Amino acid sequence: MHHDDGTDGTDKDLDNNSLRSIRELGAATFIKRIYDDDSTDDSTDIRRVIRDLDSECTGLERKSSVQLKQLLKRKAIQIGKQRSRISIPETYDAAINLISISSNILVVSGAGISVNRGIPDFRSPDGIYDQIKRRNYPEIDEPEQIFDLATFVAHPRLFYSVAKNIMPTHFSPGPAHKFVKALQDSDTLLRNYTQNIGMSPLERKAGVDLLLECHGTFAFLECLRCGEMYNTDDFSHVILGGGVPVCTKKCIKEYRRRRKKRKSDSTDNNTVAPLDVSDDAVITFFDTKNEDIPYLKPTITFFGEDVHSDYEQRVLDDSQATDLILVLGTSMSVAPISEFISHIPHKVPIVVINKTPIKGLEPDVSGA
Ligand SMILES: [Zn+2]
Repeated sequence: MHHDDGTDGTDKDLDNNSLRSIRELGAATFIKRIYDDDSTDDSTDIRRVIRDLDSECTGLERKSSVQLKQLLKRKAIQIGKQRSRISIPETYDAAINLISISSNILVVSGAGISVNRGIPDFRSPDGIYDQIKRRNYPEIDEPEQIFDLATFVAHPRLFYSVAKNIMPTHFSPGPAHKFVKALQDSDTLLRNYTQNIGMSPLERKAGVDLLLECHGTFAFLECLRCGEMYNTDDFSHVILGGGVPVCTKKCIKEYRRRRKKRKSDSTDNNTVAPLDVSDDAVITFFDTKNEDIPYLKPTITFFGEDVHSDYEQRVLDDSQATDLILVLGTSMSVAPISEFISHIPHKVPIVVINKTPIKGLEPDVSGA
């Protein structure tokens, strides 16, 4: 437990309607209300709100409507994040009391709750990024690049050699996962936003159904060429054997069809070797044709990809319904969760159970 001496929230800015609204509604709902307001004279109104949020903002007249909307979003998220601590004693009893009196709890979980189950997290010393760094892969400069879409497309084998370590299915849920399930069983869990991307996140394995997998899931693979979906389970032998899974349905058929056609076009059928349908042959075929190679990519969100399609709507709905935020084992540093707190009304208490503090957030109750 630690005490903090954050701001007391009694500054005179509270007289300002826009600021007050963000604190009452959270950033996402605030922005949505502005856009939904029929009386909004678009750009003029957005300029006024931005000046409400930051009186020193200049040059707004020259900005396009898209730029204004981006700026408004950025400012609202910034202000949404500047919470004042709610006055609650920072004790375990206070945390337990909050949990027991709350009925719409949002749990935000991350890799930290699965470390004691044997799955490494990303950012701790000895975590996945640290391990990648030590191996000095020539294909990447920074460990995070392993989750860049461009890196994956260029070096899928590199990705899978790392992914192997986080995908085995023999892990079992621990106390934190079972605790979230217990909240669900007692009808007090509104939703569990997990950033975990295991084959089956341990939250799901523990039986948590009210789950939003913010970074997608490793449970499915998608063909980069034709979009066909597969169960990762069906390819675990390929991945664990150090290989890269390749589309076995449409794209292999397409490969066969085009190779056959070439054979039948040929005048000398007798000398043609049997069609090689190994993964390597298929990869080489599409590669030499300068086409997308039918590698299978897990349906987790890579940097450069859009977040889970339900995420924004869920946050809008849940932020207005929740009465407690419980953060379990995440530094909340990766989008979209890095902005999550900004969308939560400031009156909703936040309890953080983490090994490391969260940058820029003064929780109401925290502990490790
Ligand atoms: Zn395919």
